[in-house]
Amino acid sequence: MAATILADTHEHLVEESRRLVPINDWLLPCDDWSLLFKEYLQDDLYSSGMSQSHARRFYDPEVAAADKYAIVAPYWERVQHTGYGRNFSVTIRELYGVDSFSLDNIELLDSRYREVRKPGFYEFILKRVCNISLCQVNSLERIFMETAQPSLLQQDLSIKEITRCSLADIAKVKAELGIEIDSFADWLAAIDLYFERFGRRAVAVKYVGAYYRALDFAHVDRHVAERHFATLVAPRPFIGVEGAQALEDYLFHYCLKKAQDYGLPVKIHTGYHAGSNLMPIGRVRDNAADVCKLLQSYPDIRFVLMHIGYPYQDEYIALCKHYTNAYIDMCWAWILNPEASVRFLVEFLVSVPSNKLLTFGGDFIVAENIVGHSVIARRGIAEALSALVHRGWIDRGAVPDLIDRLMHRNAEELFSNVAGPA
Ligand SMILES: [Zn+2]
Repeated sequence: MAATILADTHEHLVEESRRLVPINDWLLPCDDWSLLFKEYLQDDLYSSGMSQSHARRFYDPEVAAADKYAIVAPYWERVQHTGYGRNFSVTIRELYGVDSFSLDNIELLDSRYREVRKPGFYEFILKRVCNISLCQVNSLERIFMETAQPSLLQQDLSIKEITRCSLADIAKVKAELGIEIDSFADWLAAIDLYFERFGRRAVAVKYVGAYYRALDFAHVDRHVAERHFATLVAPRPFIGVEGAQALEDYLFHYCLKKAQDYGLPVKIHTGYHAGSNLMPIGRVRDNAADVCKLLQSYPDIRFVLMHIGYPYQDEYIALCKHYTNAYIDMCWAWILNPEASVRFLVEFLVSVPSNKLLTFGGDFIVAENIVGHSVIARRGIAEALSALVHRGWIDRGAVPDLIDRLMHRNAEELFSNVAGPA
C-alpha cells in the first residue's frame, strides 16, 4: 500500500506562491501551525464548544505558539479521536516528526512548520511524502486557476459562479475575463469563452451548488432565463429566490452541454456540508434522488459524485451500480467518518464494478494536511481489502491489481480522454 502511487482527485490548494507570501486573509488567516486546524478540524472544535472569539484569537498571527496551545488544548482533548483530529495527529507525526500535540512539543511544532513551508514544498509533500501521482485542484479563488505548476496541479473548471450568476458573480467574471456584460447573450458568450480558453486544459467541471440549493434543475426556456437575467441587472434589481433559481437551472444545463461537448467529467458535491450550524439534512438526503435525474438526462457525461454522499452512501452505491455514467469519489470521506468509509469500500467492492471508484482526495486548502489524510486513506483501503480477503471473497492473488486500480488507475482512465470539443 505504501509503495503504490495514489491519485488525488480533489483538493482546494491555493497556489504555492500564495503560501510563501502570506497575507492573512479569509482563506489563510495566519502562517503558523494553527493554520492546520482551519480545515476541517475547526468544525469539530466549534462542535465541541469552542467559541468564535477563541477561534479568532487562535488564528491571530500575533499570538505566540504557547498561548495558541493554551487556547485550543481544552477542545483538542475533546476532538482528538475524530477523523479530523486524527488527521492532525498523523500529519504532525509523519511530516514534522512531532509525536504528540502537547505543550512540551509546541516550539518544535512551531519551528518544523516554518522549515517545511519553503519553495518547492508542494512537490515535496505530494510526491515525496504522500507518493501522490496526480493532484486535481478546485480553486476557491478563480473559476479556472492558471497555475504556475500545471504538471503538479491539474485544475477543475468551477461553474458555481457562472451558473449562480449573482451580481457579485457577474463582477467576478467581468474582472477575470476583462469583458463587458450587458445582456444575457453576453453572459452566455462569457461561459462559452471560459470553455474555449480553459476547456482543453481543465481536468473536469466542478459544481458545488449543493451547499446552497437542491440538485433539482428544472428545464427552463431561454426567454424565461433571459427575463430573469434582465431583472437582475436592471438599475434596481428585483430578482427573487425563484427567479434566481430558474436562471441557475437554465445556466446549469447550459454548462452541462458545454461539458459534454468538451468530454469533461462533471464533479458534483453531494452529501455532508463543511462548516457549522448550516446543514439542511433533508435537502442533503435528497441529493441522490435529484442527481438520478441528471444521470438519466446526460448519458454521455461521466458524473463524479463526491464525498460518497455521506451520510447517505448506501444510495450512492445503488446509483453507481445502476447508472453506467455514475462514478463515486471518496474524497474527504476518510476523515469525515473513517469507519463508515471502510464499510463503504467493502460494500462497494462486492456490489459495483471496481472501475467506478476514485478512492482519494484530501479536500484541503492547506497542503500539509494531505499527509495525514493520505495515510488514513491508505490504511482504510488496506483494511477493506484485508476484510474481503479474510472472508475469502477476494483471492489474495487479485489484490495487487485491485490496489493499483483503486489507488490510481481508475483516476487515470476516467480523466484521460479529456481533450476539447468533439
Ligand atoms: Zn471540496
